[in-house]
Amino acid sequence: MKSRETSAPSERNGRSQDRGHAVVIGGSMAGLLAARVLADHFRRVTIVERDRFPQGPGFRKGVPQSRFPHVLLPGGLAVLRRLFPGIVEELASLGAVRYLWPRDALWLTAGGWSGRFAHEGEDRFGLSQSRELVEWVVRRHVVGLENVRVMEGWEATGLLATADRREVTGVGLRPRPSASAASVAGSEKLYADLVVDASGRNSPAPRWLEALGYEPPEETKIDASLGYAGRTYAIPSDLKADWKIIFIQANPPADGKGGIVLPVEGGRWSVALFGGGGDYPPTDEEGFMAFAKSLRSPVLHEAIRRAEPLTSIHGYRRTANRRRHFERLRRMPGRFLVTGDAACAFNPVYGQGMSVAAGEAEALDRCLQKQWEQRFRSPNGNLAGLARHFQKEVARSHAGAWQIVSGEDLRYPTAEGADRGLPVRLSHRYFDRVVRAAMKDPSANLAFVDVIGLVAPPSSLFRPSVLYHSLRNGGTGRGVEPPGAVQHPEPLREELAG
Ligand SMILES: Cc1cc2nc3c(=O)[nH]c(=O)nc-3n(C[C@H](O)[C@H](O)[C@H](O)COP(=O)(O)OP(=O)(O)OC[C@H]3O[C@@H](n4cnc5c(N)ncnc54)[C@H](O)[C@@H]3O)c2cc1C
Repeated sequence: MKSRETSAPSERNGRSQDRGHAVVIGGSMAGLLAARVLADHFRRVTIVERDRFPQGPGFRKGVPQSRFPHVLLPGGLAVLRRLFPGIVEELASLGAVRYLWPRDALWLTAGGWSGRFAHEGEDRFGLSQSRELVEWVVRRHVVGLENVRVMEGWEATGLLATADRREVTGVGLRPRPSASAASVAGSEKLYADLVVDASGRNSPAPRWLEALGYEPPEETKIDASLGYAGRTYAIPSDLKADWKIIFIQANPPADGKGGIVLPVEGGRWSVALFGGGGDYPPTDEEGFMAFAKSLRSPVLHEAIRRAEPLTSIHGYRRTANRRRHFERLRRMPGRFLVTGDAACAFNPVYGQGMSVAAGEAEALDRCLQKQWEQRFRSPNGNLAGLARHFQKEVARSHAGAWQIVSGEDLRYPTAEGADRGLPVRLSHRYFDRVVRAAMKDPSANLAFVDVIGLVAPPSSLFRPSVLYHSLRNGGTGRGVEPPGAVQHPEPLREELAG
């Protein structure tokens, strides 16, 4: 299907015709978004994906996390709007639920319950849908572009390079049993002018670089030993609720457990429980419900206890924050870029991965624009320097998100990977005050929501107005009242009362 709403490459960049072939490894969110941008800059773009894609929004093996709630933060949604005009309306027409944060949420933070503030502005609305729906809609647009093709069922096995190994020239491939007919005529080598690795958290890029004689990148890992258990429910048709989302955050070290209820298309709730420090939520019925009941507030348990489960309970534990510092490499081959979870993967409870990948796609666009401008000034120029420039931009793109999650995860006493020196302890103290103030005061709330929504950098929490509210309202005094019991049909209400 050809995408109707996505601007054609030629409309945005009339010069893409003479710029060869770009290959993207991995056809999940980071790979699709990179391919969308590359289509504006290259004559041909090939996405190499190990899986075969389902026909509609559906599960596939390469993205096991799609079984769990996936929020699109306002910062990421804004990028999607720019890359795919009309996508918000399209997702809404397919059942995605519009919400305003925190007006539409029961949100319990380490600083107490949040006031239900209605921050102004159309772009403050978020969308809640399944991960499978958002990936499918984005995929339809990208695959619909004239100069993009997909090789499904093909696995990238390594990098091809020039004889002096200074430049990457393509990827080695291996067909999976399900390989698509759009093969490279039986060949196992796919040549390209640019290779972008978007193969996710377990990317073999460091190994591939070593095989070419380069140092692998340094890695920073902060692991809060956090596990998920998730399940989908039908939203009870007679539920009376003035909220759309429940988010109970952990409060480590006192309480490392939390949970989230997100509405998704088809009148369903995508629900996840999570626990850090190795306190993993069980995946059996009884254990799952007992864990839900043990959270700091009963609202989540009350909401799901009478809801009809539509799936079994799935667990997930690969949640360490992991940042590979490609930007620090002294030597890196030209024409090879790394993006998405392959460059930096986060503890998912902060819902940042897709939005960060979207920001990196825009960084790729900017870097390529600059590259071409230089090239036209110097006729002998090519893609030299792009890899270094891009990896620095990637590091800049995910720095704010990394600062939030890595700092917060260090509150788990068992979290490994970084020391808790004075700067970390001081920032925890200040952050505590900011969060407490943000729960009560609308302007502090807006500043905080913008930071966790990746709309503003963490440094904006040091603005004089936030500082003022944090000092004035950030004490441990009286907070926002907890919400009332979840209103289910009569029998349950009686039961709860009794
Ligand atoms: C439990 C959980 C919950 C999450 N919740 C959120 C959330 O609420 N909001 C949010 O924004 N993010 C969330 N994330 C993160 C989000 O899923 C990722 O950040 C996002 O998918 C971008 O990842 P990616 O495209 O880089 O990698 P992935 O999604 O991991 O995709 C990698 C792709 O590469 C393919 N691949 C791998 N190796 C090869 C190879 N050698 N050759 C060819 N193809 C290959 C895989 O099949 C897959 O399609 C969550 C993650 C988890 C684990």
